[in-house]
Amino acid sequence: ASAVAQLPTETKATCCYCGVGCGVLIQSDGEKVIAVRGDPDHPANFGRLCTKGSTLHLTARPALQQQSRALYPEMRLARSDERERTSWATTMDFIVNKFAATIRDHGPDSVGFYLSGQLLTEDYYVFNKLAKGLIGTNNVDTNSRLCMSSAVAGYKQTLGADAPPPCYEDIDQAQVIFIVGSNTAYAHPIIYRRIEDARKANPLLKVIVADPRRTDTAREADLFLPILPGTDVALFNGMLHICLWEDLVDLEYIEAHTEGFAELKQTVREYTPKFVADICGIKEEDLMQAARMFGKSKATLSMYCQGLNQSSSGTAKNAALINLHLATHQIGKPGAGPFSLTGQPNAMGGREVGGLATMLSAHRDLANPQHRAEIAKLWGVADVPATPGKSAVEMFEAVHTGDIKIIWIVCTNPAQSMPEQAMIREALRNAELVIVQEAYKTTASCDYADVLLPASTWSEKEGTVTNSERRITRFKSVLPKLAETKHDWEIAVDFARKLEGALGKPSSIFPFETTEEIWNEHRESTRGRDLDITGLSFKLLEEQGPQQWPFPEGATTGKKRLYEDGIFPTATGRAKFANTVYQPVAEPVDARYPFHLTTGRLRDQWHGMSRTGTVAQLFSHASEPSVVLSKVDMERRLLNVGDLVHVTSKRGSQIFPVALGDDMRAGQAFIGMHWGEEYVSGRGRDGDGTYGVNALTTPAYDPSSKQPELKHAAVKILKAEFP
Ligand code: SF4
Repeated sequence: ASAVAQLPTETKATCCYCGVGCGVLIQSDGEKVIAVRGDPDHPANFGRLCTKGSTLHLTARPALQQQSRALYPEMRLARSDERERTSWATTMDFIVNKFAATIRDHGPDSVGFYLSGQLLTEDYYVFNKLAKGLIGTNNVDTNSRLCMSSAVAGYKQTLGADAPPPCYEDIDQAQVIFIVGSNTAYAHPIIYRRIEDARKANPLLKVIVADPRRTDTAREADLFLPILPGTDVALFNGMLHICLWEDLVDLEYIEAHTEGFAELKQTVREYTPKFVADICGIKEEDLMQAARMFGKSKATLSMYCQGLNQSSSGTAKNAALINLHLATHQIGKPGAGPFSLTGQPNAMGGREVGGLATMLSAHRDLANPQHRAEIAKLWGVADVPATPGKSAVEMFEAVHTGDIKIIWIVCTNPAQSMPEQAMIREALRNAELVIVQEAYKTTASCDYADVLLPASTWSEKEGTVTNSERRITRFKSVLPKLAETKHDWEIAVDFARKLEGALGKPSSIFPFETTEEIWNEHRESTRGRDLDITGLSFKLLEEQGPQQWPFPEGATTGKKRLYEDGIFPTATGRAKFANTVYQPVAEPVDARYPFHLTTGRLRDQWHGMSRTGTVAQLFSHASEPSVVLSKVDMERRLLNVGDLVHVTSKRGSQIFPVALGDDMRAGQAFIGMHWGEEYVSGRGRDGDGTYGVNALTTPAYDPSSKQPELKHAAVKILKAEFP
C-alpha cells in the first residue's frame, strides 16, 4: 500500500525565549518542526516575531538533538568517574535513597532545588510542593531571582502585591514612555516594535530613556539621560522633587488612595536638581525636562528591566519609580503605570506559584502564619516550614560551606549565570550530590552533574506560561518526547511519590497524571487572592485563547489594567509610598579598578546560548564576545578595535577583544552575558577567570529582594601581552 504523505499541521504555542510571551504557530509533520510563524491572533505580538523567535524551528532539528540533547539518564558513583548511561529506575532509586538518608541525618534544609524561569507553571508548582510540602524545606529558588525579584519586592512594598498594573495596550495609549534600565530594542524586541508603531501613530508621544549606555533604544529617544550606573533612586527622587516644586503632583489622589507621603516628601527635599544632576552625571536641564514630561503628561508609562532589578538597591529603585507614579497619579488609567518587563518566558508563572525561597503559592507570604496554614491545608500536610529558604546566592554559598549537601538544578545553568563563578564552581565540585535536570547536556553545569536527568523541551512540552502583562497562554505539545526524556513535572512527581514511600508517608499528595490536574490545584490555591484565576480552566484557555489575570470563577474576561478604582491590595486598601534613599553601587570604582563594568543581553542571543548558539544566522549580529569601551578610553590606553585585553575584577580575570562603543561614556565598559567557558578556553585559560563575564561580577545583593548586582562591578582593563 502506498504511504499517504502527512500534511504539516500548525499548533499554537508561545516562544520560549523572553517574557514578551509572543504566540507562535508551529508547523510540524509530527516528527519534526518544519517552520514557525507568529500567531496573528495572539495579543502579545499579533503575528510578529523577532530574530530569535523566527528561527526557533532551526533549534529543533533531529541532527542537532542527537548532538546536544540529553537523551538518557546518566550517573556516576564517584566524582572521579565519568557519568554512564543508566535507567530511570536505577537513577530514581539512587537519588531517593540519597535524599532520604541526607534528610534523616542532616535535616530537610540540607537539600536545595534551583529552578528556572523557563519552566512551565505546572513544573514550578510541583517542585515547590515537593520542597515545601513534602520535604519541609523552603530551599527552593530560581534563576528568576537573578532577573526580577527586585520588581516583586518593589511592587509588594508599595502596591501591596506582586502584580504589574499595566498591559501592552497601554503602549498605544501613552503620551510619555519612560524606559529605564532596559535595552528594550534588544531584550524585548516585539514590545519595542509596538512602541515604534505607537510613535508613528501618535507624533505627540515622547520617549525618555535613562541608561548608562547609549543603547539602540536610547538612540531613538526624544530625551536621553545617560545616568551613572546605580544612580536611579537619586534620579527618581529628584524627579519627584521637581514635580513637587512645580505643582505636578496630584494631592487629591495622594490623599484619597495612598499613605506615607509626608515622610517621603521630607526625604526628597534633599534631592535638589543640582544635587541629583551631580550624582547621576547628567545635565540639570535634562533632569528638569524629564520630570516635567513625566508629570505633565496625560498618561506616562514606565517600562523597566534589569538596570533596576540587578542591583544591590534594586528594591529601592523599583519603589522610587512607583512612588513617582503614585504621586503624579500616573497609574490605574489607560496609557499609564509602572510596568516591569519580565526577562524570562515564565518568570511570572513562577512568581504566581510562589516558586521562590521567600514566597508561597498565589502571592502568599512565607512569614505569614495564616498564609502557611492555608497552603498546608490545601496540600494536605501538617505545616509548611516558617524558616525562609536560601535565595540563589545564599543557596550556592550554603552548598559551598557544606550546609546544603544535595543541590538539584532544573533547566538552568548556574555554572555560567551566577555571579562570582569561582565560588559557584567550587561549591558544585564540593557538593555531596549534584543533580542536573536538563534538555541540553552541553551546559557548563552538566559538567558538575553526578546525576543527569534528561528533560523534554520546547515543542515537546505542554502546559501554561504567563507573560509580562499577566497573560496566561495554554499550549499543547507538537512533538513526542525524545528517547528516554521526561517532562520536568513528571520527573518531580515520580521522585516525590518514591520519596513519600522512603519517608514512610501513608498516602500521596502527588496524585497528578496530567498538567491539567496540576493546573486545577494551582488555580484553586488562588481563590480569593489578588491573582484569582479560579475561572481559568484549560478548556476556557483553549477555546477563548490567552487571558490576563485576575480571572475569578464566573468572570467572562480577565482584567486588562489594575487599580483603576484606586483600591490597592494592602491592609488599608491604600498604596504605600516607600521612603527611598539613594545608595551607591556595592563596589565603587577606585584607582586600582577604575572602570564601571555593566553586563547585558545582545540582540540575537538568549542566556547561555544552549539553544540560540546552535543557529548560525544568530551570530551575524555578534560573532564573539567583546568588551565595549569608549573612544576616549581606547585612545588613552593605545587600544585598537580587536586588541585583546585583560578585564580584571577582585574576583577574576578574563581576556576579551576590544570593541568601540559609539557614544560610550569614558570610564565605562560593557560585556554581553551570553558566552561562557567554551569561548574563553578556546583562547587559552586566563589566570583564575575561565568562566565568562560572571567570573568578574559581584555576588553583592539587595537586602530585601536578594537579587545580585549583576549590572555593576569595578574592573581594570590592561592590554594583553603575548610572548
Ligand atoms: Fe520570542 Fe521575545 Fe522575540 Fe517575542 S520578543 S519572538 S517572545 S524572543
